[in-house]
Amino acid sequence: MQITANNPALRSWVAVAADSEFPIQNLPFGIFQTATTTKRVGVRIGDFVLDLAQMAQFAYFDDLGFAATDFNQDYLNPIMRHGKLAMRALRNRIADLLSIENTTFQHNSSQQQALIPVADVQMALPVQIGDYTDFYSSKEHATNVGIMFRDPANALLPNWLWIPVGYHGRASSVIASGQPVVRPKGQIKPDDNAAPIFAPSRQIDFELEMGFITFDGKPLGQSISTSEAEDYIFGLCLFNDWSARDIQKWEYVPLGPFLAKNFASSMSCWIVTLDALEPFACPTPAQDPAVLSYLQFEGNKSYDIKLEVALQASAGPEQVVSRSNFKYMYWNMSQQLAHHTVNGCNVRCGDLMGSGTISGPTPDSYGSMLELAWKGTKPIQMPDGSERRFIHDHDTVIMRGFCEQNGVKIGFGEVRSLLLPAN
Ligand code: MN
Repeated sequence: MQITANNPALRSWVAVAADSEFPIQNLPFGIFQTATTTKRVGVRIGDFVLDLAQMAQFAYFDDLGFAATDFNQDYLNPIMRHGKLAMRALRNRIADLLSIENTTFQHNSSQQQALIPVADVQMALPVQIGDYTDFYSSKEHATNVGIMFRDPANALLPNWLWIPVGYHGRASSVIASGQPVVRPKGQIKPDDNAAPIFAPSRQIDFELEMGFITFDGKPLGQSISTSEAEDYIFGLCLFNDWSARDIQKWEYVPLGPFLAKNFASSMSCWIVTLDALEPFACPTPAQDPAVLSYLQFEGNKSYDIKLEVALQASAGPEQVVSRSNFKYMYWNMSQQLAHHTVNGCNVRCGDLMGSGTISGPTPDSYGSMLELAWKGTKPIQMPDGSERRFIHDHDTVIMRGFCEQNGVKIGFGEVRSLLLPAN
């Protein structure tokens, strides 16, 4: 089925600023509410949110197989359960309704109440996440961590170039942009102590990641191949995988991260569909040694998405501390999903897969404070004269991302979180 919504020539009758991240070619999905409504499904266009629950009442989606009640929900899962082709048809239909060529909706002033100024809505966590998996797929990030904590001569562990390394995270503490994060407490073992102490973490870090959200996969026991993988991916979000480095350092042997990671992970509220990102597909970096057959793939499976991280102290100005790109990832999403299911593990509608920290090749493109400040040896200067090795109480971390090509800009908005002091 054609992705007609991606046509760069499309123009909307809704006023959209030239530099908007949300032109008619984007149309990301989210969950919103207003002062007078319950949570429901919305699509972003320019500085408006299109209320799909209202649009469904006008019977615009009846022939696409959706029930009107699918849109009057706390999460996107009920519409996502209809699968890739239905969601593509829905986005195409919305693009058609918002197109300047289409007069049906455009000239119906009562129906236009379904367009709500973004300033009047409150966004919520868009997906009811069943399972959350986090990968470790940036070669630059894994190399940097290996240099800092192990052996610069053997920075990558022997399995890294063969396996898209990952672990199972925790879904209950995945939160939406805008929700504050409380500094966690835990066991920390200072280097010169024989025994650990119990204290608030002193090394709170962000991890610049992207997340992808799955449709229902195959039944338990079956695998999704690299060529099938994108059929099972609904869309992407920005993802801050908060980390407590001091807790992590003491606890991670031998089973990997636990309390250092599961206190919070923050996601952006608009899910940009993989369909909308299709024009921005690009080659994956060369993989050497050649990967095992089930990880081989054809075509452009990486995505050129520009990313940045800014820090803001209390009420001070923002300081951009990193500029990276999703295309740097050594392992692409199709390989991650193929690997995740190669043993027969089933993925379900609403599962979240984190990419792993997205570090680029240069020091200003690293995706964590651990790397940017190089284990605390190169502190970052803030506009107010203070320094950051890790995140301070009352700092806000803001991640942004967008693609741009031929005058079309497809953005993710932001994931923004304030760090509060420990309870
Ligand atoms: Mn992570």
